[in-house]
Amino acid sequence: MVSIKEALEIIHAQQPVLNKIELYVEDALGYCLAADIKAPFDIPSFDNSAMDGYALCGNYQTYSIVGEVAAGSSMLFQLKERETVRIFTGGKVPDNSFAVVMQEKTSVEDGILSINEQIKEGQNIRIKGVELKEDQLVFIKGHLIDPATIGLLASLGISKVAVFKKPIVRVITTGNELVELHEERKLGQIFESNSYTLQAALRSFGFNVAEKIRVADDHEATKSAISKMLSKSDLILLSGGISVGDYDYVYQALKENGVEELYYKVFQKPGKPLFFGKKNNTYVFALPGNPASSLICFYIHVLPFLQKITGALETGLTEVELPLLEDFNFQSDRPTFLKAVVKDGKTKILDKQMSSMLHSLAVGNALVFLDKAETLKTGDLVKCFLIK
Ligand code: AMP
Ligand code: MG
Repeated sequence: MVSIKEALEIIHAQQPVLNKIELYVEDALGYCLAADIKAPFDIPSFDNSAMDGYALCGNYQTYSIVGEVAAGSSMLFQLKERETVRIFTGGKVPDNSFAVVMQEKTSVEDGILSINEQIKEGQNIRIKGVELKEDQLVFIKGHLIDPATIGLLASLGISKVAVFKKPIVRVITTGNELVELHEERKLGQIFESNSYTLQAALRSFGFNVAEKIRVADDHEATKSAISKMLSKSDLILLSGGISVGDYDYVYQALKENGVEELYYKVFQKPGKPLFFGKKNNTYVFALPGNPASSLICFYIHVLPFLQKITGALETGLTEVELPLLEDFNFQSDRPTFLKAVVKDGKTKILDKQMSSMLHSLAVGNALVFLDKAETLKTGDLVKCFLIK
């Protein structure tokens, strides 16, 4: 048995094994950069107007209007003192402009502009290079590509980027009691749901499932399914069958397939029977079958692992410390993740915490982490992991 901290250290000790690929920026959402990116030129690349208004030469009350610069116009004006050009947002500001005045602060009569405010030098001018300078480091290797990153790369004229590949993930569910959604459910049977949860959890962080299969609680079937999946996956997620029941064959089947144990059993609740292992370059998590355990193990263990092997700098859920909305009497023999709601800067621990119960995870948006039994009062600060 390892502690949560030890488990996460083991996860972080794994070296990225995935190759780099080159992608068009529009296809790179959710990938991590495999190389630093420097700015090929200044942003903005020329002084331009932040407003629709007038570019002024010198600081006066009135100016003669000598022309117009629309966004995209390449016209070059050399203004003389007391001259101005009409200018629009993004238009190139003439070199010798003192400032840009918003059109709302002006009036025009017979080609003469009058100013109705105090002008400060440089106001409303977006100076060349003010955001990024040519050759400046813009993003470091491992930066997660989000919409703003894609937009910025495009604005730098970068159409392709090197990123770390995403893993090929396969999901194996185990359990004689499970039936597919299209099958008839007899007494004693339940619909298989963990593969849906895990696939959705993976997708929500930008990962895909290559294949989902289901095996019965049968030693040989489990062993051969694992063997087949090992050779063609970067990561296998198994659900169920990893505990100590008479029909739990996963641990044995993993060992017999030569999967090296990196950890088995974590001092946590839910999710004690969690297994993490490796064979060659294929990793395996065997998650407990209870639906909430399975998803919480995904968030706390699988997610940082996936992020780590895809080169991310930041891993795991966002962590915040928040005051409790209500008193909470916490009794547990293990550090525990509790389903909770975070709202208006406070957190409320929900009812129905059993590891079989998904509803509280579905309506909640956080996990409160408590590491020892204690009576907590309203307003006490607790550690929360945000899941939404
Ligand atoms: P196990 O870890 O196999 O002992 O399963 C623990 C509990 O989780 C049992 O109540 C199972 O019926 C349930 N369970 C296991 N696998 C799944 C699954 N894929 N979908 C829904 N429930 C499951
Ligand atoms: Mg089972």
